[in-house]
Amino acid sequence: MAGKMAVYPGSFDPVTYGHMDILRRASLLFDRVLAAVSDNPQKNHTFPLPARIEMLEESLRELRLPKNKIRVESFSGLLVDYLKEKKTPILLRGLRVFSDFEYEFQMALMNRHLDPQVETVFLMPDASHIHLSSTLVKEIVSLGGEVRDLVPRCVLRHLKSAPAPNIP
Ligand code: ADP
Repeated sequence: MAGKMAVYPGSFDPVTYGHMDILRRASLLFDRVLAAVSDNPQKNHTFPLPARIEMLEESLRELRLPKNKIRVESFSGLLVDYLKEKKTPILLRGLRVFSDFEYEFQMALMNRHLDPQVETVFLMPDASHIHLSSTLVKEIVSLGGEVRDLVPRCVLRHLKSAPAPNIP
């Protein structure tokens, strides 16, 4: 398939309206976007990989985009290897507040070091999402708070059915 494709990697543990905002913006800039859900056994995820993928796929339907505009896949190993496999140098990340900047800057430069062709593109979400993170959502839920405005509806279902000790 022709056209520019960007890879948007993340834990999506779970997907929030912040991720969705970035994906919607990316869909306007790139021909295709691959949302790559990380399968990293060293990271202690709250939701198992199949659930994170399922939530993301279901949430994406809310965006009502043409079929195949955004696809969801899992990946493991080095991102630069995954990008090579997918035949695209474009790595997409979201940037919220200054605290993201240091880590994201370091990762972008390290990925460039590992593969000079890789270009990291940062998108900023709407100001209403800059304080939003998967971790905070899980924390609020575990304390009995309301997250209806922060995550897609299918995520709400998963959050409510997740065993309490698993959150965050
Ligand atoms: P990771 O563990 O790789 O950071 P996340 O799912 O937490 O995975 O985040 C994936 C990407 O989405 C990161 O670039 C992160 O900055 C971005 N992101 C997460 N939440 C938001 C948000 N509310 N607004 C904008 N970008 C976000």
